[in-house]
Amino acid sequence: MLFDLPTPGFSFELLATLGNARAGILHTPRGDILTPVFMPVGTLGTVKAMTVAELEAPPLDARIILGNTYHLYLRPGLDVISAHGGLHGFSGWRRPILTDSGGFQVFSLAAINEIDDDGVTFRSHIDGSKHRLDPETSMRIQATLGSDIAMVFDQCPPGDANADVHALAIRRTTAWAHRCLATTRPSGQALFGIVQGGTDLDRRRAHLAELAALPFDGLAIGGLAVGESLDDTYRILDAFAHELPADKPRYVMGVGTPTDLARGVAAGVDMFDCVMPTRNARNGYLFTSTGKVVISNAKYRLDTGPIDAECPCDTCRTTSRAYLRHLHMAREILYNRLATLHNLTFYARTMRALRDRILADGSKA
Ligand SMILES: [Zn+2]
Repeated sequence: MLFDLPTPGFSFELLATLGNARAGILHTPRGDILTPVFMPVGTLGTVKAMTVAELEAPPLDARIILGNTYHLYLRPGLDVISAHGGLHGFSGWRRPILTDSGGFQVFSLAAINEIDDDGVTFRSHIDGSKHRLDPETSMRIQATLGSDIAMVFDQCPPGDANADVHALAIRRTTAWAHRCLATTRPSGQALFGIVQGGTDLDRRRAHLAELAALPFDGLAIGGLAVGESLDDTYRILDAFAHELPADKPRYVMGVGTPTDLARGVAAGVDMFDCVMPTRNARNGYLFTSTGKVVISNAKYRLDTGPIDAECPCDTCRTTSRAYLRHLHMAREILYNRLATLHNLTFYARTMRALRDRILADGSKA
């Protein structure tokens, strides 16, 4: 079943469903994204330690990556990226890019932030300089970055926020969503809305009712994995993800572990992002089909086997656990590259396996 999305050039093709789980294709002007999909995070215009060629090459074959509006706006600055015609020209990445709105980083990273109904004033975490971010500014920055999917500027409260904070965040997020939709986007840029509401299901449903009718190309669940319990994360995913419109892609922001991905897919989520595979790789934590490998562990000192015997990545085909442990202990920069390639490949294979199971055992949509 093919659903045209509001932005020309974008459509969502639902291929099969299995319970609430869905397999599909998000068609974009810069190429097809097979869903469910994990999107590697490229905070500063780079998926740390990876070249474009490495990201594109099978078996990793990343179809879409993330860029962070807040970070790129502060460094290198929009004039530098604009001189390259956008983030694609700047980074050399040719496939789709999704940019966040900057809101999450402003609320979590910036030293001082003053939130009002119009936007947020904050100080850079790099040099303390003062900046203002509001819906129109966020959209203007995302237009300059030239991302394929832009996100609305939203207010994401922390996991322990009280009901008043959530109510205010929802009111602002809806008002800001309308303002983002009212801006003129570059051609070929889709826009996703973000549902807030924390761990209260009724609050989530009320906010979704406000956003579902708006002409977004997809909807995201924001405000999960921000400090709430894992039970609460799964309770919201299980009860709520499948209530998002079926004819648009559904994205859960900033989640998570391989188990989180499986739970999210089963709940009806199509898109995920998280720094976990890349950050954990650099910190010495490697994901495998038989569990986590902490590569600094002494038991790998003489281990001549690959990280994961089932993994077809270049790292596993050419290096041993002992070699990777040695590189990690010696702080050789090659370690970061080899480990990141493996963890991203593990995440991509995990998602592909989930997708294949939906296609094989599910009903045709
Ligand atoms: Zn591997």
